[in-house]
Amino acid sequence: MTATKPTSIVWFRNDLRLDDNRALQAAAAAGGPVIPVFLWTPREEDLWAPGAASRWWLHQSLEALSQALREKGSRLILRRGPSLTALQELILATGASKVFWSRRYEPAVRKRDEQLRAALRKANVETEECSGALLFEPDELHTKSGNPFQVFTPFWKSCLAKGEPAQPAAAPRTLAAPATWPDSLPLEQLNLEPTIDWAAGLKRAWTPGETGTRKQLRKFVQQAITDYKTARDQPGIDGTSRLSPHLHFGEVSVRRVWHQIRKLQERRAAGGERGWKPGPEDYLRQLGWREFAHHLLYHFPHTTGQPLREQFARFPWRRSKTDVTAWRKGQTGYPLVDAGMRELWSTGWMHNRVRMVVGSFLVKDLRISWLEGARWFWDTLVDADLANNTLGWQWVAGCGADAAPYFRIFNPVSQGERFDPQGEYVRRWVPEIARLPNRWIHKPWQAPPEALKTAGIVLGKTYPNPIVDHAVARREALTAFQGLSKHGLDSE
Ligand code: FAD
Repeated sequence: MTATKPTSIVWFRNDLRLDDNRALQAAAAAGGPVIPVFLWTPREEDLWAPGAASRWWLHQSLEALSQALREKGSRLILRRGPSLTALQELILATGASKVFWSRRYEPAVRKRDEQLRAALRKANVETEECSGALLFEPDELHTKSGNPFQVFTPFWKSCLAKGEPAQPAAAPRTLAAPATWPDSLPLEQLNLEPTIDWAAGLKRAWTPGETGTRKQLRKFVQQAITDYKTARDQPGIDGTSRLSPHLHFGEVSVRRVWHQIRKLQERRAAGGERGWKPGPEDYLRQLGWREFAHHLLYHFPHTTGQPLREQFARFPWRRSKTDVTAWRKGQTGYPLVDAGMRELWSTGWMHNRVRMVVGSFLVKDLRISWLEGARWFWDTLVDADLANNTLGWQWVAGCGADAAPYFRIFNPVSQGERFDPQGEYVRRWVPEIARLPNRWIHKPWQAPPEALKTAGIVLGKTYPNPIVDHAVARREALTAFQGLSKHGLDSE
């Protein structure tokens, strides 16, 4: 007589893939039926409950995962939270004795997972938390004195000293189905998609799901990675991987991305390829920033709402609804800032260089708190990620780890002239000034009246005058910063 193999639940969270998913592999390896589950558990009162763009993405990604599971003879069971209640109901309905999931690092999620583990243990249900979102675990990395890192370069050296990340594993060939499936909600009942259809631009820009991600990764590695070092800073060209939402939702594992790039490097080295450029190494370093962001979030969980450098809690931020609205809508009169904010609204994504510029404009030119910016990004970005967003905003504001010093203030005009010299990016997103010659494209208010007239621009009517004078705003920001330094902030 053969013993029946135990039923396992795989709880999908931010690991919406079959490839290199250790939680899924472990459940499949247990040999019994596997019940794949997704629980929709946000508490609306939670400041960092998924924003509108993330919800849109999640809907599409769950649809894709569900389809991929069906092709393996399995299903995706959808339920609403609270997580513990939903899992207990599923355990009761299926007789499952073990729950597998991939580890997450957001403070509220970690706390919830700990409580959940304890409650399930009491009920004699085993749990297994697998690594999958990162290359290196935050609790395995520390400085020589045993503290968490706060500076990127030594952090990344310490990661690299650990050796190559583990190889990714292919998706399980089959997944055993239970004799009867538990009930599932239809995806539509999670109400993730917007009721007013503002998502047309997102639909055009993205293909959520594992298959779309693999295509995107292949295309980037084949076509763009070689020039990444220089191209990554030019918003007018397709020079970056655009993998950020796919990585956030775990539609591809970062180990898979890493090793795909390593393979390319090996192939090129073996072929003695000429014209070698350091794109791939630079790309891997960017993945390092993602690791660093998670390291910081893990060790300094309060930074989602408070500056890491505590002195900044006293910074005299301004409040201005009018300025925030102009910034959100891309109506500041600074073309690069406006282009970025409109790209974000239209596609749910913004180029990294431009994120830095619009962020600096909000916190330094307008002196509005970085949290205001982080909240807007949270709602509108398809790649909204608590670790990366917190790091990005605190870096821009100068109040985080390894941040740009506060007194280094991005000039939106010279940034435009340097990184979008032909104005391609600005023309794409701010069409009302598209006919201006390159010379004025980043500073229309300095264009002579004839140039404006020929381009069909009436400043203040068809395109705004700058809402602040950058030179004046810069001086005011520095004065505010110096006020803070007097009270003990190191002015570097
Ligand atoms: P690529 O250049 O192709 O980089 C590859 C991957 O590396 C990215 O997909 C991302 O996962 C990671 N990465 C690259 N740059 C960074 C970085 N500076 N910090 C952390 N990880 C990085 N990224 C998010 O994923 N989610 C966010 O919510 C987010 N908010 C940001 C807010 C601000 C103010 C700033 C300045 C940056 C923010 N970033 C965020 C980081 C970065 O802008 C995006 O990761 C990047 O633009 C995504 O495009 P890509 O996939 O083409 O990047």
